[in-house]
Order: sequence, then C-alpha cells, then structure tokens
Amino acid sequence: MTIFSKIIAGEIPCYKIAENDDFFAFLDINPVNYGHTLVVPKVETDYIFDIDDDHLAKMMLFAKRVAKAIKAAMPCRKVGVTVLGLEVPHAHIHLVPLKTEGDMDFRNKISNPDPEKMKQIAEAISENFE
Ligand code: 5GP
Repeated sequence: MTIFSKIIAGEIPCYKIAENDDFFAFLDINPVNYGHTLVVPKVETDYIFDIDDDHLAKMMLFAKRVAKAIKAAMPCRKVGVTVLGLEVPHAHIHLVPLKTEGDMDFRNKISNPDPEKMKQIAEAISENFE
C-alpha cells in the first residue's frame, strides 16, 4: 500500500481538497508554493502513462476542476501542471498556483509549511470545488 493509498484510506492525515469515486485531491505536505495540490487515482498505479485511456482522461478532467478551485481560492495568474512521480510510486498530478515561473521550482520546497495556513488554504480551495 503506498503512502497515498494510506492517505485516501484515512490512515494518514492530510489537508483534503476533494474526492469522487475514482480520484482524491489533497495538499502536498512540502509544497513548492502554498496551494500546491496533488491529484491521485484511488486505484494504485505507479506510472501515470500506464493508466488506461478512459481513466487517465477522467483524471485530467478531475484535475481541471481542482485547478479551477485553486485559481478561485489563491492569488495567482495560472495553475501549473506537472507530473514527476520519482518519489512516490503512485501516479499523481501536481497542481501549483503560479505568479511567476519560479513558483514551480521543485528545488525550492517549503519544508515546514504553517499548519494553520495549510488548513485555511485547503478549506478555501475545497469551498471553491464544483
Ligand atoms: P514525486 O513522486 O512527484 O517526485 O513527489 C511526491 C510528492 O508527494 C512530493 O511533492 C512530496 O512532498 C509529496 N508527499 C510525499 N509524502 C507525502 C505525504 O505523506 N503527504 C502529502 N500530503 N504529500 C506527500
């Protein structure tokens, strides 16, 4: 069971944003920028491009709804999209609110994000999720 499956199962706490039958969205614990959100499938697959076409299309459409909520809740110009997957072997899409290109520099992560700020941001994004 991956760490993300444990989060989905509620065994590990997270700052939850949204979920449906197939996907789950929550704040990255070491964000590159406040509002940095991960979208994951509930069924474990390591590599995103091993996901079947229909499921992958649905995942991207779910991520689009999350991105719209981030854009509504966070001061930003756009929401950037990245797939890395080098650390956690459970496919995930990174969504990051951007004011500048540097806001998506994965070498500059916030190692100890303020818990109260993370809670408020998760609530604000969640409230804007449609
Ligand atoms: P990647 O696999 O895309 O290279 O990186 C995995 C991402 O998951 C990282 O940005 C990391 O901060 C995030 N992450 C790893 N473990 C946890 C966790 O337990 N909770 C949350 N919310 N994020 C995590």
